[in-house]
Amino acid sequence: MSDRPRSPAPDAPSQVLDTSKMSSGERAAMELAEAARDKSKGLRSFGASIFMGSPDFAQLLPFPSQSEEDKKEGDTFLATLEAYLKEHTDPDAIDREGEIPDEVFRGLGEMGAFGIKIPKEYSGLGLSQTNYSRAAMLLGGHCGNLTALLSAHQSIGVPQPLIVFGTEEQKQRWLPRCARGEVSAFALTEPDVGSDPARMSTTATPTEDGTAFLINGEKLWCTNGVKAGCLVVMAKTPPPPGAPESHRAITAFIVDRDTPGVEVTHRCRFMGLKALYNGVMRFTNVRVPRENIVLGEGRGLKVALTTLNTGRLTLPAACVGLGRKCLDHATKWASRRVQWGQEIGKHDAIAQKLAGIAADTATTEAMVRFTSSLVDRNKKADIRIEAAFAKLWGTERGWAMVDDTMQIRGGRGFETSDSLKARGEEGVPIERFMRDSRINTIFEGSTEIMHLFIAREALDPHLQLGGPVLNSQLPGGVRFKAALKSALFYAWWYPRQWLPIFTSGVPDGVTVHPRLKRELRRARRLSHRLARGLFHAMIRFGPKLDKKQAVLGRFVDAGAEIFGMTTLVGHTQQQLDIESDDGERKALLDLATYACRRAALKAEELLRGTTRNADSDGYGVARKLLADEK
Ligand SMILES: Cc1cc2nc3c(=O)[nH]c(=O)nc-3n(C[C@H](O)[C@H](O)[C@H](O)COP(=O)(O)OP(=O)(O)OC[C@H]3O[C@@H](n4cnc5c(N)ncnc54)[C@H](O)[C@@H]3O)c2cc1C
Repeated sequence: MSDRPRSPAPDAPSQVLDTSKMSSGERAAMELAEAARDKSKGLRSFGASIFMGSPDFAQLLPFPSQSEEDKKEGDTFLATLEAYLKEHTDPDAIDREGEIPDEVFRGLGEMGAFGIKIPKEYSGLGLSQTNYSRAAMLLGGHCGNLTALLSAHQSIGVPQPLIVFGTEEQKQRWLPRCARGEVSAFALTEPDVGSDPARMSTTATPTEDGTAFLINGEKLWCTNGVKAGCLVVMAKTPPPPGAPESHRAITAFIVDRDTPGVEVTHRCRFMGLKALYNGVMRFTNVRVPRENIVLGEGRGLKVALTTLNTGRLTLPAACVGLGRKCLDHATKWASRRVQWGQEIGKHDAIAQKLAGIAADTATTEAMVRFTSSLVDRNKKADIRIEAAFAKLWGTERGWAMVDDTMQIRGGRGFETSDSLKARGEEGVPIERFMRDSRINTIFEGSTEIMHLFIAREALDPHLQLGGPVLNSQLPGGVRFKAALKSALFYAWWYPRQWLPIFTSGVPDGVTVHPRLKRELRRARRLSHRLARGLFHAMIRFGPKLDKKQAVLGRFVDAGAEIFGMTTLVGHTQQQLDIESDDGERKALLDLATYACRRAALKAEELLRGTTRNADSDGYGVARKLLADEK
């Protein structure tokens, strides 16, 4: 509409957020995170539009489909990978022995599994993000250790940052090596640096002639570090001339493993992913030439966060594979096991779990496929919210799916696959799935950090408008002008959150099955409620809203439910368009409408919880526990 006030332009973080009342640690973390945010302008992403009460269905529908050519290329690789996994790998043995056999490294290397997305001109397979996600789905249902090996290598290791940010020389030098099977890794975490990179202590000091840097420090939990030939290392470089020491910035370096001073001091072992080649890595005066910097000095966090935006899709994709396998095992068992006079799958409590696993698998797949297609359309697409939604929702539901499958299998769920086989039963590895998948909600952005990350992006349009008004660090004139701009925008926006008639529906020319259309309407109504609720919370809590993590978490989770509903509708419609069997069409519609109703009920419950909850009491109890501990 022409009378629509202009969307606020992104400002410098200091204008938007008042950091004057924060502790120095908090301020450092906040300013670093703000500086690394992608503040590019452009169309608001679909995920972001959900939080503003106007899901932009034109970005979702028609649901983006893979081209025939792309699909064919993917099918060929997937068939090779699947056959190899079946014939040459034994996930139970890998788990039991805590090692991946050398011949498996070789086999995967020969078929190109280490260079799935690396362009063909650098000896990779050059497959699309969608095909990469499909490969992760296949791996995720087979072996967590192999998934982690290949994912850490190419989702966060050397290939991904070089594909996006590398110079031609860097690409020529490292990508062919990585594509042929030289393992790579990503080293950010330190003993004191988990979710908060501002505390990083690894340093990179320029040599006297300025042509190189000396890296010193210790990195923790570096997946693939034990086997890596090259790795991305994050280190703090000196502040710009004249700036205080505290303004050291993070820089990303590519480091060859055989550089003197690089050591693996310990191989870490975990409750699951027993064959992860994960290590503590020490760097002592490691001399790295300036040409090995990725993107530029001081831009390492941008490299890490951008890499992770796409890298984050691998875990939910793997959860789709896991979900399919769980559904397979759970359905088989529920249809054979008879207790209390009938198959356990016919007892309502178990039936609901089965349906839930099916719905969650389908929804995660829709989220991953939609977000992957955005990357395929535009490598630089803003997928921050979509990828984070998929990671957050997919890994949380992934864990729940494994848990429900274990419950359905009863005592056999808890028994190891080897033990089941030894006494003559089918070796069903739910116990291994559970151990291997628990880490998914912790690494590559924990659930709590995903909540904060998405909440920050969700609030951004409001912060751009209201932030300067409340920022005591800004001059009065600036604040007054911001107040006027803000009043104009909200006078236009707020009434529309109560009057659905003003918001976009299904785009012209797109036909959606009536049952799915109903779900889109439901999603749109929920999106209005979410936008209103978020706005009311901003007024209620003011600048203290960022401390109300439980409330913000519920808004984010409600947004994820809406994202799940809408992407599932899109994906289901796409499947209906090619499915001719009436029975199959009905099954697709039944599953989608069930999943959407379930998601809507969950979103309503979450939104109710933003105003009616026991959060303050809980916070008080925790504070007392912490005080007693000191
Ligand atoms: C098996 C495994 C593989 C890994 N692979 C790699 C790798 O290849 N490269 C690499 O660099 N790292 C790797 N990591 C590290 C992993 O990414 C971190 O474990 C993760 O970032 C969390 O850090 P942390 O464990 O130090 O937890 P912390 O940051 O100490 O957090 C502990 C808890 O507090 C929560 N929390 C932290 N900050 C906040 C906040 N502001 N608000 C609310 N809650 C908060 C967290 O969500 C978490 O629940 C790996 C870890 C494991 C276990």
